[in-house]
Amino acid sequence: MHCFVCGNNDDKRSICKSCLTKELTHDILTCESCGTSFLYPLPSVAELNEFYGNTYYDFDKNKDEHGGGIFAKKLKRISKTGNFLDIGCSTGHFLKGIKDKSDWQVFGTEFSGNAVKYAKEKLELDVRQGDLKESGFTENYFDYIHMNNVLEHVTDPVLFLKEIFRVLKPKGTFELLVPNGEADVALLKRYFEEEKTPAKSKDGHIFFFSKKALLNMLEQTGFKIIKTKTCSVSRGLRVAGYLPLKKNWKEAYRLTEESGKEKKDFSPREPKKHSGAYYSYRYFMNNSKNLPGLHSFGLDFLIVAGKSRSADAQQKVRR
Ligand SMILES: [Zn+2]
Repeated sequence: MHCFVCGNNDDKRSICKSCLTKELTHDILTCESCGTSFLYPLPSVAELNEFYGNTYYDFDKNKDEHGGGIFAKKLKRISKTGNFLDIGCSTGHFLKGIKDKSDWQVFGTEFSGNAVKYAKEKLELDVRQGDLKESGFTENYFDYIHMNNVLEHVTDPVLFLKEIFRVLKPKGTFELLVPNGEADVALLKRYFEEEKTPAKSKDGHIFFFSKKALLNMLEQTGFKIIKTKTCSVSRGLRVAGYLPLKKNWKEAYRLTEESGKEKKDFSPREPKKHSGAYYSYRYFMNNSKNLPGLHSFGLDFLIVAGKSRSADAQQKVRR
């Protein structure tokens, strides 16, 4: 069986069973060569559509917009203006925050038709529905590409990274946040072992990348790693068993009658709006807990990458 990440053909070990909907159970296979685990068979488009429904977009729009405003300061330090892309931008409040606080042009891609409609109509943003490849961006277009928790949801992560590489400018920056797969898969495995029934891959994760696989995949696409950070350390320590888990942790992994069936009307939450100082405090407190480097005890990894010089040279030769 072929590994979708490193291409190794050795037999893959099934570590547990998992599912997205009631209809189909998947094995979670682990590649011994790169350490990545993934749902097998890979989910179909129909299965993913059923899983996501409309209830996946539960977020605090005020917090996202404020976060965009803070991010805009970082972008302005890079350049007065440029092209910014948020892959998997949801309803686009983060993008709106950047647009309002800078002269950068902002763009987004998003799978959910409802979220795209909202971003276009309510926030007047250029957000395109579907895969990055179908979005019609020309090569070397973006100065900064931001991707928060997307790579673990796509069915061909290697191809996805190649497309990001194509649309990023030679001196552009690619920032991605991705779960630490080895920690992320741990509770699915534990649930299956203790409950003797498949755990729901509750956030729709298909791939569980190891640190090694992530860095290899990026470097083989032509990226060079500029900075790495470990995030969500306390949650990672809970998963690893160093801190106690919440008593009811299994609830999120339990497949219920409603799982994936719910198609509620699309209406983003209207949370209480706090002062800007409150959101700034939360933003900086969250970031202050990040640690430099990629550590196995964190639940999420932040990686900042650029294009490597040799990759640029290769591109020029190909033309
Ligand atoms: Zn592999």
